[in-house]
Amino acid sequence: MAGDYYEILNISRDASPDDIKRGYRRLARKYHPDVNKEPGAEERFKEVNRAHEVLSDPELKARYDRFGEPGVSSSGQGGFSDFGDVGGFADIFETIFSGFGGGGVGTGTPQRRRSGPVRGEDLRLDLKLEFREAIFGGEKEIRIPHLETCKTCTGTGAKPGTGVKTCQTCNGTGQVRRATRTPFGSFAQVSVCPTCNSEGQVIEEKCETCSGVGRTQVTKKLKITIPQGVDNGTRLRVAREGDAGLRNGAPGDLYVYLFVEEDKEFKRDGVNILSEITVSYLQAILGCRIPINTVDGETELTIPPGTQPNTILTLEDKGVPRLGNPVSRGDHLITIKINIPTRINAEERELLEQLAKIRGEAAGKEGGLEGFLGKMFRG
Ligand code: ZN
Repeated sequence: MAGDYYEILNISRDASPDDIKRGYRRLARKYHPDVNKEPGAEERFKEVNRAHEVLSDPELKARYDRFGEPGVSSSGQGGFSDFGDVGGFADIFETIFSGFGGGGVGTGTPQRRRSGPVRGEDLRLDLKLEFREAIFGGEKEIRIPHLETCKTCTGTGAKPGTGVKTCQTCNGTGQVRRATRTPFGSFAQVSVCPTCNSEGQVIEEKCETCSGVGRTQVTKKLKITIPQGVDNGTRLRVAREGDAGLRNGAPGDLYVYLFVEEDKEFKRDGVNILSEITVSYLQAILGCRIPINTVDGETELTIPPGTQPNTILTLEDKGVPRLGNPVSRGDHLITIKINIPTRINAEERELLEQLAKIRGEAAGKEGGLEGFLGKMFRG
């Protein structure tokens, strides 16, 4: 995916985070595949998502501004689109157009007031899904290493039984002042207290579990619900499972990025499933019913008489459930390949030559048969 992200979102290089968000929403609405069926719209939608993904993240944006696309591409994956809280939102529009919850990844303005509550960091987890898991969804157990509030000290960082005391360096103000005399008068210089780092308080004795930090690294097992119809590039938000906050700050969110494995038999094109099946030239001419695999299991497919090579037959509602509206499913499209034998036995040859004669197409022993089959399977 090339193209300048600013141009893709139709914004200037010095656009504010709000401008970026506005540009993104306007174009996402315009090109969303559920509303825009024009060719190329889905591609544009993906580009718009990718551009927003990068430009709305201050860190990625800075890298992109310096290094361009190579600075932000990871393992060649395309744009990520959000699918809101797992087990929460049912409507993808809701998720895309309501922005991101709780000052998270998307807004890029983390609240970081000194000595007040600090929201925990958002975390990213990459999760591989099997082809069918992405289609039908299900429960998935994940293990996520994250910071939790220390249970021993409940996040205060102080050893249980001990307390906090007023910082003696700054007498609890969090700031230290120094008067500087100059020929022009006396100036007070204010700076952050180096002892308590502006908090005004210090703990008497550090908690032994967390060394006074108030948080500990824990690998948590989580069960998450994969909605039906997710695809490569869907991003799920698991609220409040990022890192714990500091000083009663809210925890961050966990973002699960989905990667879907390929299947030997089926390919996926949005909500449609694609596969191929090979029939004999006789089956193509005469028509038949043959067993065929779908993602739901085996079923029967009717090959109508006179089916041409590369004909695409449709099994309706055997595709992928729509993300956010799983009662509606895509189709399974089957491309018919026709096998023309390279060797036939004497009996078959005789019968085919009789056929050729009937159709008035015999022009010599070899040429006649080839001409006959050639005409039949042209195209
Ligand atoms: Zn502790």
